[in-house]
Amino acid sequence: GRCVVAVDGPSGSGKSTVSRRLAVGIGARYLDTGAMYRAITWAVLRSGVDLTDAESVTKVAGEVDLRIGTDPQGYGVTADGVNVDREIRGPEVTGSVSAVAALPAVRELLVARQREIIANAGRIVIEGRDIGSVVAPDADLKVYLTASEAARAQRRSAEDAADVAATAADLARRDRLDSTRKVNPLQQAPDAVVLDTTELGIDEVVARLRELLTE
Ligand code: C5P
Repeated sequence: GRCVVAVDGPSGSGKSTVSRRLAVGIGARYLDTGAMYRAITWAVLRSGVDLTDAESVTKVAGEVDLRIGTDPQGYGVTADGVNVDREIRGPEVTGSVSAVAALPAVRELLVARQREIIANAGRIVIEGRDIGSVVAPDADLKVYLTASEAARAQRRSAEDAADVAATAADLARRDRLDSTRKVNPLQQAPDAVVLDTTELGIDEVVARLRELLTE
């Protein structure tokens, strides 16, 4: 039957790995909403408009032909027909995505797309910052993953082969922007199950979520 799992949390909390594994395990689709904000940001950067010009950024965002797959074992993201899987993880996009994601019109656009994907999926694990609070407030299970700042920076820098101190600074900067923006900030839904993953392995977190789903 229908089953929607909302996974939220700050960068490096383990959301993506855990959400993908859970989706594979329960035979569900998977949606990475961060990849959608990143793809829009890529298109905005490519267009050359000034990032502080909200009107122009919103216009570009509205015109991008954004496509994203929902296969947890390999989803692709394209913007205007260009595969952007690699570019959206690069430093340029990572450095600008929180500013683009703070624009109300951009969020409105993507939240609508995300709800459409959920409606068509049946079973889906969807991860982001505002899923339990805004995108899918009626989800069957809401999870909020956290981890210590040190653990989050460690994980991210291992993924990117980047310097830990620089990664820690970038995570702190993005988390501050994401949790203080005026529209749909990163927040725990009141009915979310909070899991601190600092001392937990991926398998343990996934097993705990599967338990919660059968309860
Ligand atoms: O999850 P990821 O780190 O790829 O997300 C990139 C950025 O996209 C976040 O830092 C945040 O600014 C934005 N985002 C958001 N709402 C979501 C998912 C991501 O604002 N649901």
